[in-house]
Amino acid sequence: MPVECKRCGQGSVQAMRIRSTNILLWVCEECEATWKSQEEVNVGKFEDYGTLMRGIGRSILWSELVPQ
Ligand SMILES: [Zn+2]
Repeated sequence: MPVECKRCGQGSVQAMRIRSTNILLWVCEECEATWKSQEEVNVGKFEDYGTLMRGIGRSILWSELVPQ
């Protein structure tokens, strides 16, 4: 279930799986703040979605993500 993003206060954070991997990310649809674990959402430091995906050699297209 999506939770409100406290970083931007506008979007919701949704669990997403990177297509073709089992890696789960929690991504704000609005500001693209990304967390790697559910417990960290709105608590721990976020990463930028594009930076994170490039860092692991993935496309930054939203079509890389499968909503969970
Ligand atoms: Zn946000």
